[in-house]
Amino acid sequence: MLSIDDLRGRVLDARALRDALPRAELDVEAALDVVRPICDDVRHRGAQALLELGERFDGVRPPSLRVPAEVLAASVERLEPDVRAALEVSIERARRVHRAQRREDVTTQVVPGGTVTERWVPVERVGLYVPGGLAVYPSSVVMNVVPAQEAGVGSLAVTSPPQRESSGVFAGYPHPTILAACALLGVDEVYAVGGAQAVAMFAYGVAADDATGTPAIEPADLVTGPGNVYVASAKRLLQGVIGIDAEAGPTEIAVLADDSADPEHVAADLISQAEHDPLAGSVLVTDSEELARAVVAAVERRVPETKHAERVRTALTGTQSGIVLVDDLDEGVRVVDAYAAEHLEVQTRDAAAVAARIRNAGAIFVGPYSPVSLGDYAAGSNHVLPTGGSAAYSSGLSVQSFLRGIHVVDYSEAALRDVARHVVTLAQSEDLPGHGQAVTARFGDEVPAPAGE
Ligand code: NAD
Repeated sequence: MLSIDDLRGRVLDARALRDALPRAELDVEAALDVVRPICDDVRHRGAQALLELGERFDGVRPPSLRVPAEVLAASVERLEPDVRAALEVSIERARRVHRAQRREDVTTQVVPGGTVTERWVPVERVGLYVPGGLAVYPSSVVMNVVPAQEAGVGSLAVTSPPQRESSGVFAGYPHPTILAACALLGVDEVYAVGGAQAVAMFAYGVAADDATGTPAIEPADLVTGPGNVYVASAKRLLQGVIGIDAEAGPTEIAVLADDSADPEHVAADLISQAEHDPLAGSVLVTDSEELARAVVAAVERRVPETKHAERVRTALTGTQSGIVLVDDLDEGVRVVDAYAAEHLEVQTRDAAAVAARIRNAGAIFVGPYSPVSLGDYAAGSNHVLPTGGSAAYSSGLSVQSFLRGIHVVDYSEAALRDVARHVVTLAQSEDLPGHGQAVTARFGDEVPAPAGE
């Protein structure tokens, strides 16, 4: 099921290596044609469009766009105690890790009388997307909401697709466990909207609509969260109207392993991420042919027993998945750096030292007892991570994602006088004399001499 690509004895530079590695093709550009009319429809017809699009793409028309408070309350009342306990552990650990990411304002005294402060200010209103197509992700509620709350965001709204299968008071709303996660986190603004239309809802806002009994929905400054190709494509289209975190693609795992790794663990971990999506990528990079063959055998044995066998098989046989054989661990490090995985497991001898050498990954899971699934739910780390190689230049969701750094410049007359001639010189060298004049205007239209000259 997993094909083996033998790179042993081949010397590839970083770019050639990247091209040689398995990776999902996510055609965000092609989905733009689908997504553009959806976003236009939401912009022009607001609530009516959102309700109709739910019916069309999710197979159910929500009773209302906003989930009523009593439905949120019911979701917590009916939550299984063990699921509640697990969610509470997940929330508590994520909160501890993300609270530690808060940033203090930093003031630098550049010269006497001249300071620059970097002031960290939370985004005012954010829209958090929680996927709910092929699977539902209460854990993504935690991973979106906790960093936003810890950053101090004042207004946050969660949205997730309405679920056809939900019944009773939950009929036509997002999955009850998603609602319960929102309620446990104290989020009371929750919408039954998925896909591209959810991104458009946050970008444009929605006018109050008497016909559907919809109160106005304020636009958000930023939308975050993972989603499928339509969500990613809507983010690309509407970026600028609204801020985005990333165009997250299908999930992916890379495992860097040597012959000390347990093939059963490696196989189970590769399958665990393939379970998300037929487009998910699972890649093993190893210098041990014996391990590679043992992992192939373990995968063959395990897949038929797993619940979503069909989806897993499609993901593992796709061109985005495979095993890469390398000459040695040094080459393995080079390969996983070129791949820049969303999730990277290091299952080697002295795993912490090997992990410390990795430069490109969304998150790194060290040693035999740190599987990606732990990070998906309850390590305390965030699971909204850069995919498709974008870990080479970007990070996962964190408190920082919800903050803006504002430079506050405060110079006295003497401090400006001291540096004025340099500003004027640079302004002239850029042929922007007006810039220099904005300084000299404060000193009788002369270039002032620094104090003491
Ligand atoms: P989703 O909520 O992203 O997408 C469902 C929505 O897609 C529906 O509400 C519908 O409106 C829209 N849609 C479906 N078919 C459409 C069509 N033909 N045209 C237009 N719109 C359509 O849920 P999903 O599909 O399950 O995707 C979730 C993705 O998020 C998966 O790829 C999963 O791997 C990923 N994920 C990533 C992380 C992470 O942290 N990186 C976490 C969880 C999930």
